[in-house]
Parts: sequence; C-alpha cells; structure tokens
Amino acid sequence: MKIRAAAMRTAAGMVCVGLVWWAQLPGQAAPEDGKRWYKGNLHTHTTHSDGDSTAMEVAAWYKGNRYQFLVLTDHNYLTEVEGLNQAHAAQERFLLIPGEEVTDSHKGKPVHVNGVALSKLVMPAGGATLEATIQGNVSAIAAAGGLPSVNHPNFVWAFGSKELLQIQGASLFEVYNGHPGVNNEGGGGYESLDEMWDALLTAGKRWHGIAVDDAHHFKALGKQYSNPGRGWVMVRAGRLEAGAITAAIRTGDFYSSTGVELVSVETIAGGMRLEIKPANPLKYRTHFIGKGGQVLKTVTDLKAEYAFTGGDGYVRARVEASNGDKAWTQPVWK
Ligand SMILES: [Zn+2]
Ligand SMILES: [Zn+2]
Repeated sequence: MKIRAAAMRTAAGMVCVGLVWWAQLPGQAAPEDGKRWYKGNLHTHTTHSDGDSTAMEVAAWYKGNRYQFLVLTDHNYLTEVEGLNQAHAAQERFLLIPGEEVTDSHKGKPVHVNGVALSKLVMPAGGATLEATIQGNVSAIAAAGGLPSVNHPNFVWAFGSKELLQIQGASLFEVYNGHPGVNNEGGGGYESLDEMWDALLTAGKRWHGIAVDDAHHFKALGKQYSNPGRGWVMVRAGRLEAGAITAAIRTGDFYSSTGVELVSVETIAGGMRLEIKPANPLKYRTHFIGKGGQVLKTVTDLKAEYAFTGGDGYVRARVEASNGDKAWTQPVWK
C-alpha cells in the first residue's frame, strides 16, 4: 500500500493512480472501462450533532484509514463541505459529499432518513402515520436533489418491510449499521435487515443495501461505542466526484462490506459472478440468495458464480468470512 500512497501524493492524475491501484491486486486485470473501486462511508456524525469529534477530525480519520470518500450526516444539520474538500486537496484523493440525517419520529418511533448529496438543509417532514413520516422525509430529500437512504429500521424496533413496501421514491436502505443499538440481526419476531431486503426484492421493489458506520465516537473505543471502520461501501466509478459516486450508488454499482474485500462482482448473461480477495487465514462461504430469502446456491471457492434457472426473479450474494466479516452484493434481476 506504500506504493499507492506515494503515487497518490504525486497527484499524477486518475490514470496513473488507477494503474497503481490495480497493479496491487494480484491476478486482477486492469479495468477495461476505466472504472475503479472507491471506499466510502455514507453515515457519520460530528460535533455538529451528537458526535464527539469535529468535522475536520472525522474527515481526517477516514482519510487516514484509506477511505476515498465520506458523507457527514449530522442530525438535521447540513455540513458545508467546500472548505473541508479544499483542506484535503480533494481531487482523486479524498472527497466529502454533503449529507444530512433527517431526523424525525412518529409516536416515539425514530424515523431517520439520510440525504446524500443534498443541495440544501431538509427539515423533518412529520406525518400522520409511520409510513407517511418515512415517505414525507424521503420525498423532501428527493425534492432537495438528494439521494434518500432509509436508516436502521430496527432502531427502537421502529419499522420493517411492511412499512418499507409502501414507500415510493427510495431504493436505498441500511442492511448493516455499525451502531451498537440498531439490532441488525432482528429477533423476537422482528425481521433481520437481510430478511427485510428480501421481502422488498421478492415484491419486485429494486432496493439496494448499504453498510455504514453511523459513527459517533472517535475518542472512546469499544463495543458499546459507535466507532468508525465497521461498515462501508465499495463504489465502482470512473472518477472521485460527487456526481459520479452518487450515480453509481443510485444504480447499484457497488457492494457493501464489514471486512470482506471483493476483487470483482459482475452481472453476466444469465446471472452473476464474483471473486473474493483472500485474507489469510480466513475461509469463505458465498450464499446466492433469491426470492423469499431462499439460499439458491452456496459456494466455498474464492470465485463464485450463479446462473439463473427458470422462475428466478433476482439473485444477490452474501459472502461470509470465517471471522464473521461479510460482504453484500446488490441484486441482479433476471
Ligand atoms: Zn439515526
Ligand atoms: Zn446516525
């Protein structure tokens, strides 16, 4: 990684940086379409709301830990990122994309919807019902030019697929959130976030799943804190620029991870395939998941492929490492 860091410091331009980046992944061909992977976190707090560190400190953490982009999403606060981007000499090194966690509630149930690449501050919309509250905030974010993302449904067991199925104009939700209080796995009759996703996909709703930190604590570290580095997205884009990154997320050209790195993930004629970048001594299991959350195929090799058979609606992959780390690909539709 030293070579790459040095090359990036020369600011020698995208092509050079891209070549160096790809040269470091053994066995991996250079991207023919000029696109590469960018690592980013879409959900983070600062002292502008309930985080313990300033926007500058938070950006420095992510940049120092080899992320390429970051969305600061404080509660009902839109951080001005222009100055931060200038401070970090952003071009092809590190990019801040404006964001906000629009923070609302209905009868004690939190309704938090992130707006990515917002053009202006969005105030909570409220609503007569839980569904109307989610919808109102999704619509307000879209109206402000942002990409809406529905956050941590199981936080305070607020809502599930029943409510999400009624939402229009959103196609992004958190399949993993690193905050200790958000109940990703469900239980006690509540769906896991993976189960919610499959309920949406099974109904034909083409939603994408992101993994995020929801980091608040950069100074105190431990399981009980919401620390950075737990969940991220790897976005395939032609350049490190807000429009290109947001467009790739919007179309599902990314995967989500809590530690598993993929060399490639591709839609192929009649299915999908992926390749895992191994980290010793870990072993891997790839589940291809379809309608109703059914596991269609499980592969234990580093290269895994699924071909549609009759009747499939979608397939997505969840890669599980032997240490509990995961990666989630976006669904491919037949
Ligand atoms: Zn939240
Ligand atoms: Zn948050």
